[in-house]
Amino acid sequence: MKRRTSTAPIRVYSYGCRLPTANADLVEQQLVCAHHYYNTLIEIERRRRVATREAQSASSSAISSSESSLASYETEIAKTLEAINAKKGKARTSKIDLSSERQILSTLRALKKKTIENLKVAKQEARTPALLEIFASIQEKANDEVREARSKNGLYWGTYLLVEQSVQLACKSKTDPEFHRFRSVPNRQGLPSIANGRVGVELIQGVEVSKLVGGQNTQLQIDSPSPNRMSKVKIRIGSGDSRRSPLFAEFPFRMHRPLPADGLVKWAWISKSTKGRWVNWSLQIVVEAESLRRVVRPPSDGGVVAFDIGWRQKESENPGKLRIAYWHDDRGNHGELIIPHEESRLIKTDCLRSRPNSIRNRLDHATSLRSIQDKNFDAVRTDLIAWMVVHDVPTWLSSATEWLHAWKSQRKLGAVVEQWSTSRFDGDSEIFDKLTSWWKQHRHLYDWESCERDRSLNARNNLYRNWAAQFTRKYAVVVLEDHFLAKVAKLQQPESTKSDMPKPTRRNRTIAACSEFALALKNAAPGNGCSVDYEPYDDTTATCSYCGLVERFDHRPLEHPCERCGSTTGPVDQDRTAARNLLAAWAQKQSRSQSNPQPPEDIGGSETAVAMPAQGAMP
Ligand SMILES: [Zn+2]
Repeated sequence: MKRRTSTAPIRVYSYGCRLPTANADLVEQQLVCAHHYYNTLIEIERRRRVATREAQSASSSAISSSESSLASYETEIAKTLEAINAKKGKARTSKIDLSSERQILSTLRALKKKTIENLKVAKQEARTPALLEIFASIQEKANDEVREARSKNGLYWGTYLLVEQSVQLACKSKTDPEFHRFRSVPNRQGLPSIANGRVGVELIQGVEVSKLVGGQNTQLQIDSPSPNRMSKVKIRIGSGDSRRSPLFAEFPFRMHRPLPADGLVKWAWISKSTKGRWVNWSLQIVVEAESLRRVVRPPSDGGVVAFDIGWRQKESENPGKLRIAYWHDDRGNHGELIIPHEESRLIKTDCLRSRPNSIRNRLDHATSLRSIQDKNFDAVRTDLIAWMVVHDVPTWLSSATEWLHAWKSQRKLGAVVEQWSTSRFDGDSEIFDKLTSWWKQHRHLYDWESCERDRSLNARNNLYRNWAAQFTRKYAVVVLEDHFLAKVAKLQQPESTKSDMPKPTRRNRTIAACSEFALALKNAAPGNGCSVDYEPYDDTTATCSYCGLVERFDHRPLEHPCERCGSTTGPVDQDRTAARNLLAAWAQKQSRSQSNPQPPEDIGGSETAVAMPAQGAMP
């Protein structure tokens, strides 16, 4: 693929499609081939990495000895952690003396760190011309393998280019790229078909949008596009006998949004995906057009706003109400962003009023549907195992259910039920009826659960995008805390004295997904003429934003009066303090970056007299 030279903006247009009406089997076959081709390329890459590593460690004794000691330290660390877990499990409490284990662990971890450093140095030193030549020959061998795999893949070239693009993306990672698992869904005839993938075409140099209509193009054709009627897209997925005659797959779709008239179509693909047990087909068209260039509006207000992003649930309030951020601007305005407990829009569109309506309730509902499925599965599995002990069963059934007691996958048992329905035997009616009714119920619950989860997450992300648009349209600069995420997600190590976040807390974290809001701000900013700035800050909530005093206090009460200036400022919301501190940090950076040092600009506005947390500014 050539490097792109045009600077015109690019947009991907996406349309939902119905099932293919022509060459459906060929589409399925291409999807399967694409899946295999992906895994073949991943296999070649993994082999290349192994060969490179082996050549590297064989080239120097320092590398191989460091590697073997690194491996031994890792096993030792794993063993110690296991011993701690066993000790904790035996004592049935986390309050036991682990000081000796902690000592061992810290020694081992220090040794491991040192070894990694040595290994890095050894690897640098081993990069001799001879070794680089070996690397080059390994790479050359891999390239040959790729060429051979490409010639045998049986794919139309647009599709294999799409596969190669995704392999390239996967190979950027430092860790070895993973294979794709083959997931299947039943098709209309009830036969298994691949659950996801895409087939596509590349239109070299681009094709004008108007030329797609009329049936001339040999790659992509659109019949009578209209927002009100169903139209048809024909996408090439292969060639006929003479190699020049195109083979098209056909999908009905409605072009609810027209393509730009001056656009050049560069790529198009059809993708297949599943949600629950539903199969979704969609058409994506990549268009390049000057008319897509957006005129950036100046922000309406032009000020600066800082966000302290992080969820918090106020003790006194409804558990459905979750604060996800606190904002404070340079005029002294401030407020909190709360995920509403009731989404009125969702209630209106629901046919049943009693159904859960808030984001949290929907997610909780999805979780409860999952736990019902688990309970049902456990019950039916116990019944089946007990039944099989006292009844004679055909060999296919006993071998298919050999490890039934250890199964986690409910779909596996579903597959057994499906097979059973075609090979019934005498005296099986009672248990078979039980199994079929379980399987029917399971599929229903599974669909319901995936739909419920999807809708609530969509509603939340939509809410975040709306908020982000409002703020980025109003303000010129948005200030966020740098790396605010690092603080939250980790589970504690077994030897730690701290305990993990309790389950409801971790659940709040997933519901709020604060990083999504930060991402929404980042995405919305450029289009609205706003810039996002990140401020590194320690102790954002522990530093008084009026006098700069850093205090250690109990963070559980939401509002805290400063020890030094609390008598005048009163108790202040901790998150508001954090937002004010971020704003001040940004202002300080601005005044530092100006060539002639000026007194820091006032950030407090009319509402607060003293704004900068200059150390000792207050008496
Ligand atoms: Zn203070």
